[in-house]
Amino acid sequence: MIIKDEEFGEVLVRKSPLVRGVKFTVSPSGRLSMTVPKYASTFLAKRFLSSNRAIIREKLPLKDPSTQRARDAKKKILMKKAHEYLPYRLEFWAKKYGYSYEKVRLSHASTRWGSCSSNRTISLNIGLMNVPEVLRDYVILHELSHLNHMDHSEAFWAEVEKHDPRYKEHRRKLKNFSPGV
Ligand SMILES: [Zn+2]
Repeated sequence: MIIKDEEFGEVLVRKSPLVRGVKFTVSPSGRLSMTVPKYASTFLAKRFLSSNRAIIREKLPLKDPSTQRARDAKKKILMKKAHEYLPYRLEFWAKKYGYSYEKVRLSHASTRWGSCSSNRTISLNIGLMNVPEVLRDYVILHELSHLNHMDHSEAFWAEVEKHDPRYKEHRRKLKNFSPGV
């Protein structure tokens, strides 16, 4: 549920059977989130919010609503770009080197660029659209290599190196970027 608040913008309200009182947190976008007991109504959630304004203002690193909206808009554009590019790029490299995967997922996790699960699903972070193509390709080739080696063993790195001889440099350069959008 989302409450539109004049001061805090859109406030995300989560209901949990586990909480008794109300808990306020800030999402990575700087938006206010609150967790309320399962039985709480919208009316009650609004009241919780009003009676805690001073504490929220003082204690939480919130961004103002226009900054939140700007970030949402940026993320939407990035998602669209990623949709139009990453699945095709993955397919291109997979075909070229004879890999087959089950599914591709686009993620916006803030800590990882990609992952490959044992059911052969490859996840790629939409933040890859913000890094140079050669680093983006390194991530894709890294994840494809995981289809044959689900670890970071020597055999795994040898496979990455076959496709990307400069992978060490690419791996290092990627550390200058952050996957969080
Ligand atoms: Zn890996």
